[in-house]
Amino acid sequence: MTHLLIALGAGINAVDGEGNSCLHLAMATEVFNSEDAPLDLLNECCTSLNLKIEERLSGIVVARYLASQGADFHHKNNKNNTPLDLIKDPNLRKKLETFLPPQCLLCRNKTATTKVHPCEHLLTCEECSNVPLKRCLRCLKPVTSRGRVGKNILC
Ligand SMILES: [Zn+2]
Ligand SMILES: [Zn+2]
Repeated sequence: MTHLLIALGAGINAVDGEGNSCLHLAMATEVFNSEDAPLDLLNECCTSLNLKIEERLSGIVVARYLASQGADFHHKNNKNNTPLDLIKDPNLRKKLETFLPPQCLLCRNKTATTKVHPCEHLLTCEECSNVPLKRCLRCLKPVTSRGRVGKNILC
C-alpha cells in the first residue's frame, strides 16, 4: 500500500498536526499487519540491513523503504524528535544510521544532498547549499565547487 501511495504521488515528507512525518509513524508502529502481503520484500530488506530475527520489525523495513524514496530521516517533529530518536534499541539505531545519508551540517534538520568538491563530502541540504563555504566542514579542505547528488542516495 505504501508503494502504491508513493507511486500515485503522495507527499513523502508531509507531516501531521504534531509534526510527525511518515517515518516517525513507521518507527512508532514497529510491527505492521501485513498478513496478506508477500514477505519477499520484507526479507530482502532485513537481509540487506543484516538484521537478527528479533530485530525484524516491519516498521524498520517500512522506514528503510521510505528513506530510499526520499523521506527525510532528520526531520524533527514538534517534540524535537527525529524518526531515529523513536527507535528504542540503540544497536538497531546504529545499524540504521550507517545506511542513511548524513544530516546537513549547517541546519542539522535535513538530509545532506549537496557535496563539496574536490573532497566529495556530503555536507548540506538544498536550502543551506547557498551558504558560502570556503572550507569543507568535515575535512577543512578548501572548497572549489559544490554539486547536488541524486535524490535516492540509498538505492
Ligand atoms: Zn541545512
Ligand atoms: Zn571534505
